[in-house]
Amino acid sequence: MNIVDRILTIVVTATITSIVWIVAGGSLIENATSESQRKNTRPAEVAPSPEATPTGDETAEEAAGLDTAMPTSPAQNASNRLLIPVKNIRISDLTDTFSDSRGEGVRLHEAIDIMAPTGTSVVAAAPGTVEKLFRSDAGGNTIYVRSNDGETIHYYAHLDEYAEGLKEGQRVRRGQRLGTVGSSGNASEEAPHLHFAVLQTTADAEWWEPANAVNPYPLLTGQQ
Ligand SMILES: [Zn+2]
Repeated sequence: MNIVDRILTIVVTATITSIVWIVAGGSLIENATSESQRKNTRPAEVAPSPEATPTGDETAEEAAGLDTAMPTSPAQNASNRLLIPVKNIRISDLTDTFSDSRGEGVRLHEAIDIMAPTGTSVVAAAPGTVEKLFRSDAGGNTIYVRSNDGETIHYYAHLDEYAEGLKEGQRVRRGQRLGTVGSSGNASEEAPHLHFAVLQTTADAEWWEPANAVNPYPLLTGQQ
C-alpha cells in the first residue's frame, strides 16, 4: 500500500470514527479512541493535517503533540527515504532515469538526473562523511559522501561550485548544503542538473573502487 492510500485510509477511518462518536455523544471515549488510533497508524509526516482532524482545536492539539511524543516512528520512516538533494525540488519533479542508456548505448546511466537551474543548492541526501572531492572529465566537480556505516556512498556530480569550506573528512548532516547545481564535466550547459548516484560498497573499499549502483528514484520518492 503506498503512502497516499495509507493517508486516505487513515483520514477516512479517523473521520468515520469521529462522526460516530460525535453522533453518539461520547466525547470522552472519542478522544481516547481516535488518539490511540492515530498513534498506531498515522504517519507523522502528515501530522498535523487539517483533513485528519475534523473535530476541531482539541484534536489539532493532539496531532501537534504527536510530533514530539512519537519520535521513533517518523525517524524510522525518514531513515529509509533519502532527502531530495536539490533545494525546491519535489517528488513530482523527479524522473526515473536510472535505466537510461549513456555513452551511445554502451552503458546504463545508473543514477538520477535532477534538473534545476545553475546555482540551486545541492544538499546532502543523508548524513555521512565527505570522503572525496574529485574533479573529473565526465563528472566535473563531484562529491563522494560515505554513510556512517561505511556501506553506502552517495555521489553528486556536475556541481557548479562546492559549498564554501567543504573539505574531505568533514561530517555532513542530512540536508547540509554541499554546493550548487551546474553543468561541469560532460553535462550540457543548456540542461544543468545534479547527477546523483547511490553506490553500495563495503566499509573497507575505497571510494573509487567498483560498487553496486542502486536506483535512487524509489529511495527519494518512498515508492519502495
Ligand atoms: Zn546523470
